[in-house]
Amino acid sequence: MHNLRQYEVPLQRYMAMMDLQERNERLFYKLLIDNVEELLPVVYTPTVGEACQKYGSIFRRPQGLYISLKEKGKILEVLKNWPERNIQVIVVTDGERILGLGDLGCQGMGIPVGKLSLYTALGGLRPSACLPVTIDVGTNNGKLLNDEFYIGLRQRRATGQEYAELLDEFMTAVKKNYGEKVIVQFEDFANHNAFELLAKYSPTHLVFNDDIQGTASVVLAGLLAALKLVGGTLADHTFLFLGAGEAGTGIAELIALEISKQTNAPLEETRKKIWLVDSKGLIVSSRKGSLQHFKKPWAHDHEPIKGLLDAVKAIKPTVLIGSSGVGKTFTKEVVEAMASINEKPLILALSNPTSQSECTAEEAYTWSEGRAIFASGSPFDPVEYNSRVFVPGQANNAYIFPGFGLGLVISGAIRVHDDMLLAASEALAEQVKQENLDKVLIYPPFSNIRKISANIAAKVAAKAYELGLASRLPRPKDLVKYAESCMYSPLYRSYR
Ligand code: NAP
Ligand code: MN
Repeated sequence: MHNLRQYEVPLQRYMAMMDLQERNERLFYKLLIDNVEELLPVVYTPTVGEACQKYGSIFRRPQGLYISLKEKGKILEVLKNWPERNIQVIVVTDGERILGLGDLGCQGMGIPVGKLSLYTALGGLRPSACLPVTIDVGTNNGKLLNDEFYIGLRQRRATGQEYAELLDEFMTAVKKNYGEKVIVQFEDFANHNAFELLAKYSPTHLVFNDDIQGTASVVLAGLLAALKLVGGTLADHTFLFLGAGEAGTGIAELIALEISKQTNAPLEETRKKIWLVDSKGLIVSSRKGSLQHFKKPWAHDHEPIKGLLDAVKAIKPTVLIGSSGVGKTFTKEVVEAMASINEKPLILALSNPTSQSECTAEEAYTWSEGRAIFASGSPFDPVEYNSRVFVPGQANNAYIFPGFGLGLVISGAIRVHDDMLLAASEALAEQVKQENLDKVLIYPPFSNIRKISANIAAKVAAKAYELGLASRLPRPKDLVKYAESCMYSPLYRSYR
């Protein structure tokens, strides 16, 4: 840590960490686990975003497996070239929507690598059981295509049948090589592929889309915890989203599902208090014909509204959620409007990295005169306002996917079910203590994350058994203890 702290530029810390991971993996994980709050922003958002943008020029070694269009017909062979045989979790991207930074092509590899480091550090999966994959079908990023250090195929993205066939060959090869119980986590695909891939492979593979499902679960957890501050139930709230893509509609759907379970009302009813704004304005029923399918359930009756501020004034949400990938969109006027409608406005700025955050923590607290309950996708430091200290929570799927994956692994689950996402949300919300709430913090500190992950894993595994989706029999009695006993620790083995 002493050496690492010598670097003042975050990207240099990132590179030092990547070198350490290559040189001494166990020490890398020891460092990451023992200093998780300090190092998460280095190996994960926001620094990993900058690393992906500059991936070509900081490239040292291929840290994961690249599968390009040129390997079509040979993907199984390529997989067999990976030195490890027993893979439990694959994080795969095609680099088309890296964080809120857009199409970074092959340079998106930083994301699967970073996510899998967290699978090990936060969720205790063995490093050797983790496989980062980047599928290279080209990039539409003109700057990268002309960049002399770009590491991927220099062509525009393959689409349609060519794309679908490559992905299908990959999914088939994965199951053939690693069996039914390998987790395939889709990460940072563009939404025109993400929803389809998830729907297509959910019935036959153990697949999980972190942007749609993991994000939904972490946000629902924050909302459940926030209810302890604002009172009432989820059904009492009105939700407005800026951004109606994977994150936005994924979260919206899980909230609707949770309310429907709590109230016994049908989903069509519970969706009605959830509104979304996309790049064209409020999603309303008069737009239905031209809407992408994942937006259709959210097209309610209302006159069209263009801007977010007008939407806030018209819908009067109690909860405002930013999931557009566009920074600085929760303006002073928007936050003030939220604060004039609500005693304690709930404001979540989910977009990553920090540069894309809808507003900063300081802005949320000062513009609401210290009344906002705030959390963000990338970390912000605590803020002092009116001699009170507010600790912003980090509403990031990093709370969920490591424990979720561990739960799937320890139960031998063969499919993901939405009820498992709800179970993970409840497990995470339970870990928020009164001392956190006293600081208006709706997520537990990351310093306890391994314990939190074990609890999430236990709840997810319990749900897998309950649903008949678990294959590891008999069911262990104490699932928390069992989860903990399965977790990788970066200790040296004693040979005496
Ligand atoms: P996405 O599927 O591409 O969706 C983006 C949505 O934002 C689209 O509906 C888009 O509108 C809308 N949008 C874009 N520009 C807008 C503008 N100026 N005004 C209003 N709406 C606008 O992306 P995503 O996967 O949902 O991710 C979005 C952001 O969430 C990214 O920054 C990502 O880093 C972040 N995220 C955070 C977490 C977390 O754990 N905190 C997890 C996942 C994602 P159109 O549909 O009209 O194009
Ligand atoms: Mn993501």
